[in-house]
Amino acid sequence: MLHKVFNFCAGPAAMPREVMYKAQQEFRNYQGTQVSLLEMSHRSNLFDEVIKKAEANVRFLMDIPDDYGVFFIQGGASFQFAMLAMNLLPPIGKADYIDTGRWSQKAIEQAELIGKVNVIASGKDVGYTAIPEVDDMIIDPGAAYLHFTSNNTVYGTQFHEFPDYGNNVPLVCDMSSDIMSREVDVEKFAMIYAGLQKNLGPSGMSLVIMRPDMIEKSYRVLPDLLKYSTYDHNHNLYNTPNSFAVYMLSLVTEWIREQGGVGIVERINDVKSEILYEEIDKSEGFYNGFAFAPDRSRMNVCFNLPTQELNQKFISEAAEKGMVGLAGHRSVGGIRASIYNAMPLKGVSRLIDFMSEFKKHNS
Ligand SMILES: *Cc1c(COP(=O)(O)O)cnc(C)c1O
Repeated sequence: MLHKVFNFCAGPAAMPREVMYKAQQEFRNYQGTQVSLLEMSHRSNLFDEVIKKAEANVRFLMDIPDDYGVFFIQGGASFQFAMLAMNLLPPIGKADYIDTGRWSQKAIEQAELIGKVNVIASGKDVGYTAIPEVDDMIIDPGAAYLHFTSNNTVYGTQFHEFPDYGNNVPLVCDMSSDIMSREVDVEKFAMIYAGLQKNLGPSGMSLVIMRPDMIEKSYRVLPDLLKYSTYDHNHNLYNTPNSFAVYMLSLVTEWIREQGGVGIVERINDVKSEILYEEIDKSEGFYNGFAFAPDRSRMNVCFNLPTQELNQKFISEAAEKGMVGLAGHRSVGGIRASIYNAMPLKGVSRLIDFMSEFKKHNS
């Protein structure tokens, strides 16, 4: 499919072209009904098919055990920062968190409003350029859960190995920016959540995957919409779900299936990130990678040019050549190329060609 512009934005991020065309085609007249899916009851048969397909695709693609819950919850990943603590952090007791920068900090701040949080490792002293080592000795087997962020969108760092403490401490993971970009053993996790807008669809809704014993674990009296069990008992239809987001999720997951599944997409992601880092590393300091090499993210590639002026020039010349969304996060600056599942290899190749030309003309 023809690409005039490649969108490297960190999020909301590019969706697969094929998905956008399909959504456009179906927008006003869903399956010959002369009515849009957005105008249909969430209890209608047609919407029921869509939400069932979205769930079935998620379960299939991530090989989720049958007894785990799969929930579509409005409010994005930040909403989960609070909701998960309300449900899973007991009034007496505590939860462990790994601090890998901005998003994990926000998760920590929200949990601290609810209960006791213990930050067991932090990348703060190295400016979040690396994933901190977790000393097994300080893991508290009595912690209600251990929370971490698998991919750090702002800095371009990623856990390549997950913390593993047996089944003693339930693992809770924010996978917003790398969900379905690589194969993950869901059984090792008590909870996985992700805002859709990086790899799975539009913003404003989260996918939550939860081990059965966690679902009913509500330590507080909570309104129904704040309890995971409500989503479980009502099959995500307690209230009107975000039907557009559910629909887009069904299309994006269908697209991943058509690509051959998460394993195939992962291999393409490996190639995309490898060739981009290679271009950075061979530039002899013209392009400086932000992250410590062993912890580099395959989703967000962050780097700096020798001066602020060159960073700016790079961003504006790239935009003229049809590569947009390359500015780094406002707290970090520099360049950030987000290369989620929907970014084709062609887009990365075009960026690499541009980097090589730009270096020639500016060093
Ligand atoms: C984008 C992002 C979030 C925030 O998502 P919202 O849907 O805006 O709340 C949280 N965590 C990570 C890792 C992210 O990349």
